[in-house]
Amino acid sequence: MRIALIAHDKKKAEMIRLAAKYKDILAKHELYATGTTGTMVMGETGLKLTRMKSGPLGGDQQIGSMVADGKLDMILFLRDPLTAQPHEPDVSALLRLCDVMDIPLATNVAGCEIFLDYLKDLDA
Ligand code: PGA
Repeated sequence: MRIALIAHDKKKAEMIRLAAKYKDILAKHELYATGTTGTMVMGETGLKLTRMKSGPLGGDQQIGSMVADGKLDMILFLRDPLTAQPHEPDVSALLRLCDVMDIPLATNVAGCEIFLDYLKDLDA
């Protein structure tokens, strides 16, 4: 599957923990990420992924464009619901496109774990 990882700044540590916990599963898939999330996940876990621009600089829109083109199968997006984001319109647009295109989208750790456990089961 083609999977995108995105984490807002206060959620990056949780994304790294998640990616490390599910590293073996994630390594079997084609991974994409927004810029800073990608750098951190690659650096901390060694997972290989394709990095887009940083979210506030257009990365969420790039991921959204891939969703619109049918080029992503799953989005793991750890959003920070307690901090205003300068690129909130881009975030909303991405969430909307996932619903338009019916692409599985998890926006918190519990949801991401359910998705990743599903991938693990597919593999078993
Ligand atoms: P980042 O972008 O991974 O470049 O920090 C994520 C975001 O804020 O949407």
